[in-house]
Amino acid sequence: MHDYDLVIIGGGLVGASLAVALADTGLRIAVVEATEADGPTHPSYDERVIALSRGSARIFEGMGLWDQIAPAAAPIRHVHVSDRGHFGFAHLDAEDEGVPALGYVAPARAMGAALSARLQASPRITLLRPGRLVGLQVTQERVSLEVAVAGHSRLLTAALLVAADGAESAVRKRLGLTVREQRYGYDAIIATVTPEGIPPSTRPDTAFERFTDSGPLAMLPMTEGRYGVVWTAHETETPAILGLSDDDFLAALQTRFGGRLGCLTRPGRRIAYPLKLMLAKRLTRERLILIGNAAHTLHPVAGQGFNLGLRDVAVLADLLVAAKMTAKDPGGASVLGPYRRQRAPEHALIAGLTDGLARLFVNPWGPVRAGRNLGLLGLDLLPPARHHLARRFMGALGPQPRLARGLPATSAMPPAPSANVPLLAEPPRTPTPVTDAAADAARQADPASQA
Ligand SMILES: Cc1cc2nc3c(=O)[nH]c(=O)nc-3n(C[C@H](O)[C@H](O)[C@H](O)COP(=O)(O)OP(=O)(O)OC[C@H]3O[C@@H](n4cnc5c(N)ncnc54)[C@H](O)[C@@H]3O)c2cc1C
Repeated sequence: MHDYDLVIIGGGLVGASLAVALADTGLRIAVVEATEADGPTHPSYDERVIALSRGSARIFEGMGLWDQIAPAAAPIRHVHVSDRGHFGFAHLDAEDEGVPALGYVAPARAMGAALSARLQASPRITLLRPGRLVGLQVTQERVSLEVAVAGHSRLLTAALLVAADGAESAVRKRLGLTVREQRYGYDAIIATVTPEGIPPSTRPDTAFERFTDSGPLAMLPMTEGRYGVVWTAHETETPAILGLSDDDFLAALQTRFGGRLGCLTRPGRRIAYPLKLMLAKRLTRERLILIGNAAHTLHPVAGQGFNLGLRDVAVLADLLVAAKMTAKDPGGASVLGPYRRQRAPEHALIAGLTDGLARLFVNPWGPVRAGRNLGLLGLDLLPPARHHLARRFMGALGPQPRLARGLPATSAMPPAPSANVPLLAEPPRTPTPVTDAAADAARQADPASQA
């Protein structure tokens, strides 16, 4: 029997991030991951390219991982949103927001490699893989688990069980936590392309979100001149798009996207992901916390799912460090209650925003179409609304836990008490309490801009 402070089920992008964030806190951690190794079939460290908010880059910085991820990450300095065939469009610019980049685009595989290397090098983390949950019992004092690791049964106990096992979370289902769920009937088809002959009017480092009658199409700037494509297609169209020859795929994509990136060439492998909205009705129950896709699975239209999951990690890390510092139970009320109260409203807000966007822009009804075009134009013409949206998507609104300020979870600095702490401030390198003067002095610089 092995005893831990926390057992994390699921070592994907979010579960591994939590373990790494807590690696130096003295907490005893086990991670149970179903896959055998980080090969091409890993379900989390896969072909996706992820638009990371500035806040997420900061969190990786706090975890000491940004230097490893940055070489594979491309900055987003401009966002161009348009409605194909209609007048509405909107821009977001890093310069207007006073930041070097609005966010970054990083391959999930590069983030997975950095996380995995750190997991394996951390003596306080026990990585159990390929691991499968066989039995689970929760009592007032402890969680008891039976895990099959490479075919051998292991008995574990823990103060806290964290479910980071993705949208189909076995832990969530086993413990009867219910969800609100709706399938969109659409798939996201991803691929990479390399544009050639980009017109001079297109600024470098621009991410495009183009709404079309059958769903949004995102083009995300990557390193080496490539672009990541996220093509939302009705599920009935997916087999045909996957089955196109490379040339026909490029021609279809070009028609759909237009000429803003010149001629699209060299398509990579195409993979389709079915899309759904899922929100857990409760984020906690006795000695259990849900994080990442196990708690919320979103439409990728605004690139928010992983960013939201990383914020779960940052908030939970603060709470667990506080519990450790005050010798409180990591699975007790001082962690579960605040986690639920801090995370549930943001989950609901971001899920509502992405769901609204996903639905609004596939609605062909004339008045809705006209309204959304006016909305886009209004957004472009109204700097305060644009600024608010940019800050929301940069992860700059709301309470900022230590990691979100680029500080390690172990930092002695107290968590920021209230909303709107300046994300753009350079976090102090030594963990001293932040004063307003110190924050103001540090506001100019930006460590997450080294990509
Ligand atoms: C096409 C697409 C594009 C996206 N783009 C963006 C973007 O630009 N920005 C953004 O922020 N988000 C984006 N997302 C969302 C993002 O990919 C997810 O939010 C993120 O991968 C969730 O990570 P996770 O670790 O919570 O879950 P997962 O990635 O699903 O990982 C779950 C892990 O748990 C393991 N596991 C599952 N069951 C068990 C079990 N029973 N026992 C042990 N281990 C188990 C799995 O092997 C896996 O490693 C996108 C999603 C899609 C589909």
